[in-house]
Amino acid sequence: MIKTKYKKDKWIKLICGASNEDIVAIEDLCAIYTAAGVDYIDVAAEESIVNAAKKGIGWAKAIFKNSPGLMISISDGKDIHFRKAKFDPIKCPPNCPRPCEKVCPTFAIDNFGIKESKCYGCGRCINSCPLNLISEYEYNLSKDDLASTLQKIKPDAVEIHTEINRIDAFAKVADILKNSETKLEKISISCGLNQSVKKTQEPEDLLKALWERYEILNELNIPLIWQLDGRPMSGDIAPNTSRDTVKLFERIGSYLPPGLIQLAGGTNDKTYEFLKSSNLPDGIAFGSSARKIMQPLIEIAHKNNKRLYEDHERMDFAIKKAQKFLKPWKSS
Ligand code: SF4
Ligand code: SF4
Repeated sequence: MIKTKYKKDKWIKLICGASNEDIVAIEDLCAIYTAAGVDYIDVAAEESIVNAAKKGIGWAKAIFKNSPGLMISISDGKDIHFRKAKFDPIKCPPNCPRPCEKVCPTFAIDNFGIKESKCYGCGRCINSCPLNLISEYEYNLSKDDLASTLQKIKPDAVEIHTEINRIDAFAKVADILKNSETKLEKISISCGLNQSVKKTQEPEDLLKALWERYEILNELNIPLIWQLDGRPMSGDIAPNTSRDTVKLFERIGSYLPPGLIQLAGGTNDKTYEFLKSSNLPDGIAFGSSARKIMQPLIEIAHKNNKRLYEDHERMDFAIKKAQKFLKPWKSS
């Protein structure tokens, strides 16, 4: 008998961005990637953004029958996922070739500076300015405390952004989740090596921190996802970026606490090629790279005062592009 090789689907999450508030783009992104078959969509913990995501998901669900869960991103302290960038355009020399504008994946930069609503804090522009004029600032979209946010939004899942040394703050967030009446399908834990103190943090420290969090979350009896961020919010979407994530996974993946393992932070269309087929994670999360390939199409539609999903021809093209992007993670 000939054995058929069966490739099992891997879990895929679309990250819209914890500080992304570009509502019309979020609606389109959710529609495109729901149609292409993602399992979860991660958005900022803000009602209007969640509603936009639901609208996009709803459009695609009616046609493509896929229904991804809605995850909201929260944090137990200051976190680079909750930021935006800014600069004062008056200080820019008139002859600057404007590398900042060229690298911005969301077309947030023009002669007037950075449009706050279009910036999701990816960080690409920050290092591009030869005069170091661009800085970042903290930006958390959740206007309410976590308990009321959960009550209002009722997400399917939550991602907690945390840092190695923030165990007490993490325990407080876990306590709110425990006492919340929101029934969560999953909790994802995103804890990268802090970029500013990276030299003093080793993957083994991260492993220890994740086990500490497992001890806290275990009693909630909710399936957990361990998100390994190789280069959280590095802003770099070059092909090699995901090597750091893959390296981190290969170093500590086998020793993580019980739960699903998901790669993030620099993941892109090349990530699958860097992994050994004998050692694949349970899933993958795509942020910048998934958004970047769609943004030009979304921009054209919005300039014509349309959602991309209202422009059938371009939407069809976008969905095919998204399916191709996700293909290595889906069974054929
Ligand atoms: S490159 Fe990233 S951080 Fe800079 S303006 Fe664009 S979205 Fe914001
Ligand atoms: S690269 Fe720097 S100097 Fe040039 S336009 Fe951008 S912010 Fe201004």
